[in-house]
Amino acid sequence: MIQTPRIQSDADPAAITIEEARSRIENAIRFTPGIESVAIEHAIGRVSASDVISPMSVPPFRASAMDGYAVRTSDCSSPLKLAGQSLAGHPGPDEIEPLSCQRITTGARVPDEADAVVQQENVSIDGAFITITQLPTKGLHIRLPGSDSQLGSRLMTSNTRVGAAQIALLAAHGITRIDVKTQLTIALFSTGDELSTPGQKLAPGEIFDANRPLIKALLASNSINLVDLGICADSPSDLQGIFARASDADLVISSGGVSVGDADHVRTVLEAHGHIDLWKIAMKPGRPLTFGFYREGQPYFGLPGNPVSAAITCLLFVQPAINYLLGISETLPPPLQLQLDGILTKNPGRVEYQRAVMAINDKGHWQVGTTGLQDSHVLSSLHRANCLIELPIESNGAQDGDIVSVYPFTHFNASQL
Ligand code: AMP
Ligand code: MG
Repeated sequence: MIQTPRIQSDADPAAITIEEARSRIENAIRFTPGIESVAIEHAIGRVSASDVISPMSVPPFRASAMDGYAVRTSDCSSPLKLAGQSLAGHPGPDEIEPLSCQRITTGARVPDEADAVVQQENVSIDGAFITITQLPTKGLHIRLPGSDSQLGSRLMTSNTRVGAAQIALLAAHGITRIDVKTQLTIALFSTGDELSTPGQKLAPGEIFDANRPLIKALLASNSINLVDLGICADSPSDLQGIFARASDADLVISSGGVSVGDADHVRTVLEAHGHIDLWKIAMKPGRPLTFGFYREGQPYFGLPGNPVSAAITCLLFVQPAINYLLGISETLPPPLQLQLDGILTKNPGRVEYQRAVMAINDKGHWQVGTTGLQDSHVLSSLHRANCLIELPIESNGAQDGDIVSVYPFTHFNASQL
């Protein structure tokens, strides 16, 4: 007799989906930052607080896009006499006598009377004369004034994250300062009686605190003022003490102490003082994620203690919440679809993230394989990984050669992973 295989499930009726968790978080939080002006060289990672209007047209004048000769196109079938030059930063005369031309370099101002630039490769030189071997059309190799941006146009909207391209754009318009949102102050601590700080001696039964350095590195940004509150012992009074020290923060993040173990006092303390908004999420790793408020208006994330779970929940929930608070509407780019090398086992009921390496195989195709041991305390496999494989909630696993969804670490705004 053939037996129907029993389908195992990891589904928890009390668990909510990742999307539901994100939308509940967004509905519950709000930050009204102030505005400050910063020099553009210090603006990297900040978020613009107002639109930036262009104070000038760029390029500011008709500029040559090539090294060559500024010409009148109507003269170009005859040999042209070389008469003067216009070099970058040293404009020449605006006049071009009939049947003559001007030597010109890239970025130099095009004389008013020229209507094209002939690149030097399309010219043969004979003493003081040039002969054009490929006739130009009007406007060839001339960058028009304002072709990058027009005076008075909107260069950048508010709520833009300032990166290298934005800094260059501002500099190209002679702008030296920009209005940005004030920093979000985040208080961070780790919980656990077993934790010791690297640099100290380990007592029996202790481990080093990996989560604070991990979360600090993941969240490192000029838009964030991170206040490190250290390690908190597993006691309600110590927790109350540390929450008291976090009173000035816009957001509080801790790790550990949020599962249902005896020493998990975070929940009790939060329930007594504020409230907890959600508890279990249908994902692995990272199911015990706490979100709530110790005091009104100050959101709190309690990340799982296992470092890999802390990292993944930080990327999937904390980072988007920070973007939301800062007004940035960036969403995670969609996952890549890559061929799996190997077999992945999984029970339906939770979305699963597996640490993996994506690489080009010897046939020249992208493929992805896990880093092996996926226990959520195993940091060495996070270190070896360059991406996460996402297996959907209903998935039973994946077979060798299946197409799976992959988030390269570079998709997250956290290059440090
Ligand atoms: P918890 O969520 O507090 O029950 O912790 C779950 C597991 O993560 C335990 O094995 C803890 O020792 C470990 N853990 C908790 N916090 C940290 C931390 N900051 N660094 C490294 N491991 C931790
Ligand atoms: Mg603990």
